[in-house]
Amino acid sequence: MHKISYITLGCKLNYAETSTYERELSRAGFQAVPWTKGADIFLVNTCTVTEHSDKKSRNIIRKLHRQNPEALIFVTGCYAQLKKAEIEAIEGVRKVFGATEKGLIVPTIIDIVSGGDCCGHDIGTFFPAYSSGERTRSFLKVQDGCDYKCHYCTVPYARGESRNIPIAEIIPLAKAIAAEGIKEIVLTGVNTGDFGRSTGETFYDLIRELNEVEGIERYRISSIEPNLLTEEMVDWIASGTKFLPHFHIPLQSGCDTILREMGRRYDTAAFAHKIQYIRQKMEVPGGLKVFFGIDVIVGFPGETDELFEETYTFLRDVVRPAFIHIFPYSRRAGTPAASRKDQVQDSVKTLRVQRLEALCQKLHEEFVSAHKGLTGKVLFESTDRNGMMEGYTENYIRVTAPYDSAAINNIVEIEIK
Ligand code: SF4
Repeated sequence: MHKISYITLGCKLNYAETSTYERELSRAGFQAVPWTKGADIFLVNTCTVTEHSDKKSRNIIRKLHRQNPEALIFVTGCYAQLKKAEIEAIEGVRKVFGATEKGLIVPTIIDIVSGGDCCGHDIGTFFPAYSSGERTRSFLKVQDGCDYKCHYCTVPYARGESRNIPIAEIIPLAKAIAAEGIKEIVLTGVNTGDFGRSTGETFYDLIRELNEVEGIERYRISSIEPNLLTEEMVDWIASGTKFLPHFHIPLQSGCDTILREMGRRYDTAAFAHKIQYIRQKMEVPGGLKVFFGIDVIVGFPGETDELFEETYTFLRDVVRPAFIHIFPYSRRAGTPAASRKDQVQDSVKTLRVQRLEALCQKLHEEFVSAHKGLTGKVLFESTDRNGMMEGYTENYIRVTAPYDSAAINNIVEIEIK
């Protein structure tokens, strides 16, 4: 039996895809092992979101080769798509798969280990995937690629045009996840809300049909562009569906000048309106609040101290999210922002990251404290952590309670202390 180890960097989409390669290869008789446990094959799923991600991907590949020079190393993911030749030049790499070759990975690995070289399978344009490593929650890929071309981002070049498979093919995947006993699905994509572009359907159509899948009790949306989260969808979600009061929304900047220069499709007034609308529809006095996780990039070219202050005050006074995902701007070759002359110094970016981290900590503590004494519904995860178990409320507050095997993978009402 071949021993294979999977190494995944980057986003939830990569994890969902790796999990799918693992399921398919284990059906073909491959045994998954940790990378330190004598694998003779490695499959590395790379990321290219920052320069640091590229470097990390290269370092890992070199480390795997040093550990077992005889092992076959296969590489895929966004970095592999953008810098195929660079990766092929690394010693030990057997084959690199680009964005349109994901459907080839499993058959090619099988062909190569059985003595062939490649295979004649069709190249799929959408690789369906879901993760099933955790017992309680699965990341289901519903969309891939992006047509937005924000001025700092290489993902549209790495993952191609926005596309998806039809709802009729996604529902069986959700049913397969339910059949594994998993209760919660996180819908994942590059630009998830853009679902339907290639099939003439809409994201709203998708979520209404998914809501009917028996066995799945909760849904979260991993990330959605603010312009694609429509009021019609919010009204429906708020009407008592399986979709939870938890939204991950990229803001990127709280300054209209920078938003325009980033090529984003909204301004701060529209963003503030959307947040306020969601709160008004989904929050009641004395009840749970909506968890907003907000992405922000600091140090975009041309972001002066004054413009950064606009972002800071917009987050502190208007959005007041439960969490801020902070990214220092990373200069990515080939994007319009990379060639700008007004780049921000790294030391300035670091200070801005620190200020937002402090703000995030304060806002997060306030969000959690506001729930003391309220009742939350928690889906407890299976791991026994020194006699304790953990899970998340519907609005994504992490809860710890004494381990109780009867509560695992069940939704339990608890008082938040
Ligand atoms: S919406 Fe913008 S930031 Fe997000 S993947 Fe597309 S181009 Fe990149």
